[in-house]
Amino acid sequence: METFIPQKEIFLMYLGKTRSFVNGKCSGIEPWQLIGSTCAATLMLVWLHRFLFQSESLLSRSKKRFFKVVRKLPVVGPLIQKHFNKAMADVAYSLSFLKEGKGYIRTLPAKGMSQHEILEKIQEYSALDDVHWEDGKVSGTVYSGEKKLTNLLVKVYEEFAWSNPLHPDIFPGLRKMEAEVVRMACALFNGGPNSCGAMTSGGTESILMACKAYRDLAYERGIDHPEMLVPKSVHAAFDKAAHYFGIKIVHIPLTKAMQVDVQAMRRAISRNTAMLVCSAPQFPHGIMDPVEEVAKLALKYKIPLHVDACLGGFLIAFMEKAGFLLQSSFDFRVQGVTSISADTHKYGYAPKGSSVVLYSDKKYRHYQFFVAPDWQGGIYASPTVAGSRPGGIIAACWATMMYMGEDGYVEATKKIITTARFIESELRKIKNIFIFGKPEVSVISFGSDTFYIYQLSNLLTSRGWNLNVLQFPSSVHLCITLLHTRPGVADLFLKDVRECIFEIMKDPNAKTTGIGAIYGMAQSIPDRSMVAEISRAYLDCLYSTDSPSSDKHMNGSPGHH
Ligand SMILES: *Cc1c(COP(=O)(O)O)cnc(C)c1O
Repeated sequence: METFIPQKEIFLMYLGKTRSFVNGKCSGIEPWQLIGSTCAATLMLVWLHRFLFQSESLLSRSKKRFFKVVRKLPVVGPLIQKHFNKAMADVAYSLSFLKEGKGYIRTLPAKGMSQHEILEKIQEYSALDDVHWEDGKVSGTVYSGEKKLTNLLVKVYEEFAWSNPLHPDIFPGLRKMEAEVVRMACALFNGGPNSCGAMTSGGTESILMACKAYRDLAYERGIDHPEMLVPKSVHAAFDKAAHYFGIKIVHIPLTKAMQVDVQAMRRAISRNTAMLVCSAPQFPHGIMDPVEEVAKLALKYKIPLHVDACLGGFLIAFMEKAGFLLQSSFDFRVQGVTSISADTHKYGYAPKGSSVVLYSDKKYRHYQFFVAPDWQGGIYASPTVAGSRPGGIIAACWATMMYMGEDGYVEATKKIITTARFIESELRKIKNIFIFGKPEVSVISFGSDTFYIYQLSNLLTSRGWNLNVLQFPSSVHLCITLLHTRPGVADLFLKDVRECIFEIMKDPNAKTTGIGAIYGMAQSIPDRSMVAEISRAYLDCLYSTDSPSSDKHMNGSPGHH
């Protein structure tokens, strides 16, 4: 009976059939043709492989190509260009940084200025700020602002103003401070005896360093095209890292609760996966990703897991002591978490320019370092992106941590979380808006099904508030800092939100203006490279020293002042 023929026999039979079939097909072909077509086919395959597997996905590349062609089409092309020019003009207009009549300095003063003159000028520059963060009306941005701390930091900076950790032999005290900042941070996140880390210039650099380390680890493990799997809500610094370091970035969708979909992340794991990422919490909606569940994947598939706690690291580390229990653990106590980024310059309350990246084990940190052993200037070994670094900032960060102490951080966390929970529960009572997910930390994001949410941020802006504008989906958020915990601030915010919504509901379909309109437009442009182009023009504007009264405009777009 047929079913008793062994597998091997069947295999051999098919092999023989295939061989005679192929040989029959090739019988009329000369050897040079065979060799030639084999070579051509191999080259084709190599080309196809390169074309398909790039750090930018095929879909994204095809889209760009498509829109490039569309922009060259007759009728449609010029129409798009017209809208594009209008968008450019809108952006330029909304960026009227300088008021009429003020000029720029474009060359060095011929003679150095006196101290008195400079301090006077400084007042002039400081007076240009017309958003008053001191009143607690700005989302995030300034996390402490306490006068006593400011005075201390100025003195500390003075002491270390000329120092540079690049020269530990010349500034051994600075080296000690930096090592202590990293050690204290390791302890806060319950790192074991092998835990370690580095100080960086900010959250972005911390993230860049972790991604670079895992990319190089992946290379060593024989992965030629490393990929990182990140939640859709992850900070753009990961996209930046992917861009800088040639890593493919795969955005994993979120659940309704705005947490990363762990099953989707599991399905996206491949032999190219170099790292997994969770945020604790993520920036847009302030939601904690399920670190424990993702860590299980990391362990199972032996992939490093980075926890981005840049934003809330110095809150979540104190929440238990402050009396607030989090749903999930997030630090080195969770098996599988191999690195954490946490910003000392956010809820660490240090001045801008400092952050830490921490690893569960020194073996990971080694992949972060850069060494040029053959440089003529000496053996050059550098832990992070920068070469020379400002010692004064490190000293100020160290001083801030010593000034706050555990009790100070716990107290600050208590105040901030209490305020956030209060604002959240009051916002939930307001009709026509809803809150995204269940925020556990300090960021509350909200949207609306009845009106365009950017209208609310616009109206709040006119009342002196400055919220973060988010997209996909349209929403806005308030990131609560110590400044919002002052008496009356939260109540004023809620009152203004209620009144603005009342205002909006009189005509919920009114046209949105200002930044809200720009965001609305930007979200509706399918050609994302066009949005990128407008954004580059925005960046150009930041460096503009054209007087507002002069006739120069961005890219020749119609002028607004
Ligand atoms: C702020 C932030 C970062 C990095 O920010 P920097 O501006 O570079 O300090 C990274 N991740 C999250 C979630 C953040 O909120």
